[in-house]
Amino acid sequence: MSRSTLHRIYETATVVVAVALLLWAIATSARPALPEIAFFMALLLVASFLRIEGAEGSIGFEAAVAFPAIVLFHDPGVAFLAVFAGSLLHGLYLAGAYKRLTLTVFYDTAQLALSYYVAALLYTSAVARSAPMMAKISGYILLVVGYLVIHALFESLRHYCLGDEDLVDLRRALLGQGKALLLITPIVAVEIVTYNTNGPVGFAVAFLPLLLVAHAMRNVSDAGKQNADLVRRNRELSILTESATQILSAEGDQETLRRLTGLLSSLAKMKACAVVTWETNPDAPGTVYRFGECLPTDQEILRWVEAAGFAQSAPSRAFVFQNELRRFPLASGRAIQVLIGIQTPEVIYGILLFETEDPGILKTGSLNLLTLLVNQTALSLQDQLLRREMHEKTHQLESQAATMSTILEVSDGLIGSFDVDAMLTRIAQAVQRALGFEVVVFALHDPKRDEFVRRAHAGLDDVWEEVQKKHVSSSEITTFFNQDFRLSSSFFVPHTALRQSEHGFFVRHDEELTTRPEEWHENDMLLVPLMSAEQVIGYLSVREPHDRRVPTIEKVQTLEIFANQAVQALQSARQYDEIKRLTHIDALTPAYNHRYFQEALAKEIHRHYRLQHEFALAMLDIDDFKQINDTFGHPVGDQILTGLVQELTTNARDIDIVARYGGEEFAIIFPETPSTSARDAANRLRDVIERRDFVLAQISRTLHITVSIGVAVYPADGTTGAELIARADAALYHAKKCGKNRVCLCADLAEGMTGLA
Ligand code: GH3
Ligand code: MG
Ligand code: MG
Repeated sequence: MSRSTLHRIYETATVVVAVALLLWAIATSARPALPEIAFFMALLLVASFLRIEGAEGSIGFEAAVAFPAIVLFHDPGVAFLAVFAGSLLHGLYLAGAYKRLTLTVFYDTAQLALSYYVAALLYTSAVARSAPMMAKISGYILLVVGYLVIHALFESLRHYCLGDEDLVDLRRALLGQGKALLLITPIVAVEIVTYNTNGPVGFAVAFLPLLLVAHAMRNVSDAGKQNADLVRRNRELSILTESATQILSAEGDQETLRRLTGLLSSLAKMKACAVVTWETNPDAPGTVYRFGECLPTDQEILRWVEAAGFAQSAPSRAFVFQNELRRFPLASGRAIQVLIGIQTPEVIYGILLFETEDPGILKTGSLNLLTLLVNQTALSLQDQLLRREMHEKTHQLESQAATMSTILEVSDGLIGSFDVDAMLTRIAQAVQRALGFEVVVFALHDPKRDEFVRRAHAGLDDVWEEVQKKHVSSSEITTFFNQDFRLSSSFFVPHTALRQSEHGFFVRHDEELTTRPEEWHENDMLLVPLMSAEQVIGYLSVREPHDRRVPTIEKVQTLEIFANQAVQALQSARQYDEIKRLTHIDALTPAYNHRYFQEALAKEIHRHYRLQHEFALAMLDIDDFKQINDTFGHPVGDQILTGLVQELTTNARDIDIVARYGGEEFAIIFPETPSTSARDAANRLRDVIERRDFVLAQISRTLHITVSIGVAVYPADGTTGAELIARADAALYHAKKCGKNRVCLCADLAEGMTGLA
């Protein structure tokens, strides 16, 4: 059974009992004459009007009529009739004045009349009608105490039925009532005496001082009330002065709201408080802050606030709900709930539910102050939000500036450097630093094998050697260059889209596959293709972002700037290689030029001192070339020279160096080649040339040539470049002398000399 039903039953029962008793009293104990009853009733009506509603509760003066009536008539019925009728008239008058008649009017009358009735019963049964004076005085004390006890009992019952366990009000009411009874006791004594001597007139005269007593008590009560008001005003004023510094200086939502509830608590003692705040995005769930005794769970509060639609529209002034009328009670028992939006005209930051038992909160001043505090809180939250945003913006700008300067630095660093791996490493490190990726890898496309080779990195020091060895076939990467994954000019491949085979070695598999979309998963991939003339020449791959977020489009675009730098660097390195190659190549044929030959020879000699390898140098001269020139012209001779070099380079080893020494003489360096192998190699080339058909379109003829070759071996035949060349030349001369189209070694030369000698 709910408390309110219980209360109603209790009230009705009290009224029914009182009415029954009234009828019974009228029927049985109307001993005094009716005019006397009417007289007491009239006085009681007057006494009812003297009732004081004050800080000490409700204080009545009915006892000044009811008590002497009990003593004089020795009949509970008389007191009951007088109190019931007088009090009911008063109640009905008030109901008429306020145009509001409720059961409470009857209940109040019934309770009061019953209290006097029971007290009178106590008195009449304890003291005989003809008892001596002293006994009657003792009886009077019993009457007073009995009345107070019964009064307290009724009040407690009522409190209990209202569901209020707090007895503080009751104590105050008893104190106030007790004080009033003490003050009217002498009046009662005089009333009894004067009634006995002068009848109702004497009683009425003796009753008059009660007006003075009531007046005095009312004044005291009013002063108390005013005092309480002043104290409250004072408190409100100090809250107001504190609020500016307290709320506006708080840092963070939690702290700001804590200070708000602190201030509200000093306005009216807090029982419970809940605040729900929203992000600027109204679709995101709110955050619940709880203070005091908050019974519902966060989810319950959120659900309720959501159902009420407060994120879209919140009350801008304080709404008050009391006790059972609270739409969403936070605390148990009786409480007053205040509900108000924390908002500025533009933004709703949240909603405040504040519960207190202090009825002082209901005063307009208090509610206004509460509204002001809440508005200040909204301003403080707004201010903090703006500051946060500004801070973020500044941070963004700073990091953009830092990225810009890194880009410039990288550009500067790339100028004048043509070492591709070193340049890519430098860019990878810059990406790591400027954009906050723990791992950055550059891979370049190898068109011969159609695979990607990792060339530079940042953040893979421990495993780099291993990673570098594993090449990735071209298709494994290019499948990701797919519109579905496109982000700016790059490709973001979420881990959910990866198949294990496609990303094998750089993925760990101990994953759970559910993360929020904006969160970076360790198996996510971000690939920036390196494009040159519509061709993918490589890619840049980044992993492990420090902020653990999927990069924003702005970040990806910055990444692409770095990727572009890499492309530029690669292109200029390639151009440089080409230029360098051209400076080493002979003007007419694809052979190395004389200068390069000299450098290569010096390098080979130098290498010998490190590795102790032998190497051979061959000098080659076309046989009877003058004749070809003379017969077919120099252009035909030139074409033959070019064809000869083609033949030599295709048939020599990759490490052999074919150079044009001058005219129609060529030098060939055979690294790591002892004399026997050198003879074979030279002979093979001589043979190839002899067999070659030089098809000459201009003269519609196919020509054949032969060459003579002289070979010297380092260090056996000479220890300097010049010496070696001279020795090879001597061998060549010997070959010519011995009939051309042959290979001669220095060793043959010595034999020949011996032979001559
Ligand atoms: P030998 O068998 O003794 O070597 O007879 P040879 O006619 O080849 O004599 P030599 O080696 O002295 O010939 C040099 C000739 O090579 C002179 C010149 O006509 C020719 N020659 C040299 N440089 C070039 C060139 O750049 N182009 C053309 N077409 N001919 C050249
Ligand atoms: Mg020659
Ligand atoms: Mg020649």
